[in-house]
Parts: sequence; structure tokens; C-alpha cells
Amino acid sequence: MAAKVNVDTCVGCGACEGACPVEAITLEDGKSKIDESKCVECGSCVSACPVEAISL
Ligand code: SF4
Ligand code: SF4
Repeated sequence: MAAKVNVDTCVGCGACEGACPVEAITLEDGKSKIDESKCVECGSCVSACPVEAISL
């Protein structure tokens, strides 16, 4: 299972995008979007998110 974003919680800060080592995360319409085909489940984005919007 790739990391998942709770779009209701995401505030669009971009911290997860910078934390992802495989560039699986982009911001679209002010929300984080994870490309499940790229995600290697490292957990960096989960740790980086200040509002706990990402889960693995
Ligand atoms: S779990 Fe790791 S590889 Fe997957 S989106 Fe988050 S930072 Fe990127
Ligand atoms: S770090 Fe969290 S709040 Fe910031 S863009 Fe990513 S998912 Fe959204």
C-alpha cells in the first residue's frame, strides 16, 4: 500500500513533496497528491507532515 493523503486534513504546505526521495508527491489544487506507482513506502512524508494528513 502506497502512502495516502487525507485531503480534508492537508493544508498544502508542501513539506511532504520536499521530503519524498522518489519525487512521488506533487501539489495539485493546494493538496498533496501521491503517485502510488512511484511510492516506495519509506514513511518520510508521514513524518514530514505537520498535520498528520498522510498515513501508510
Ligand atoms: S512514503 Fe516515501 S516514497 Fe512514498 S510518497 Fe511518502 S516520502 Fe514518497
Ligand atoms: S505535508 Fe501534510 S499538509 Fe503539507 S502538503 Fe503534505 S500532506 Fe499536505
